[in-house]
Amino acid sequence: MGEHGEGVGDWGTGRLGDRKPYPFSRTIVTHPSRQTGAKITAYTRPLANLIEQLQRLPGVGPKSAQRLALHILKRSLPEVEQLAKALIDAKQQVGFCQVCFHLAAEPTCEICQNSQRDDHTICVVADSRDVIALERTREYHGKYHVLGGVISPMDGIGPEQLNISSLLQRINRQDVKEVIVAVSPTVEGETTTLYLGRLISPLTKVTRIAFGLPMGGDLEYADELTLGRALEGRRVVDA
Ligand SMILES: [Zn+2]
Repeated sequence: MGEHGEGVGDWGTGRLGDRKPYPFSRTIVTHPSRQTGAKITAYTRPLANLIEQLQRLPGVGPKSAQRLALHILKRSLPEVEQLAKALIDAKQQVGFCQVCFHLAAEPTCEICQNSQRDDHTICVVADSRDVIALERTREYHGKYHVLGGVISPMDGIGPEQLNISSLLQRINRQDVKEVIVAVSPTVEGETTTLYLGRLISPLTKVTRIAFGLPMGGDLEYADELTLGRALEGRRVVDA
């Protein structure tokens, strides 16, 4: 007993573990734990865990997370196992295309592998979601290059954090006749477009898609028609 020899401090660190040290009064201990425990007691622990995990997904608030979790519980075990397997398979099997950095389950994506598509045109986008959006228009038959973001000094993202050197290598290696910059018209998007224009215009023709799209909007959410027209109306980037 009392071997630690550190006096009063022992109370706070030892047995109470992670809990904030309220060593001297049980009433003080129970009061805050009842407060923080209010959320947890509504659900059994595994359900609370599931809701917490779902809530980490983008666009899922507490209510949606609860609705999804309760829906999952209603489904059969094989169905839930399929869902869990799909999550793990996608995470394990999907990576980036070595050429264009679009999502791919093989070393190169299906678009890069497709010999029907025009090798002389590269459309540069910020994100794989933009490739999917542009593919939906069925207006574009060239290849892509996914930057992996846009230049954003505020977030510490400079050109060297993006897939830009690989784009230049592609332009030098392939006979690229046109690079179409299709980046959302935000402040960061404009910075990125102008940067790429200056970098690439000495090497080949650089165009940017025209925007019948709202400023500050997201390429991903544009309808096919607007996006298709924007692609048709692309123009040369002023260097
Ligand atoms: Zn690819």
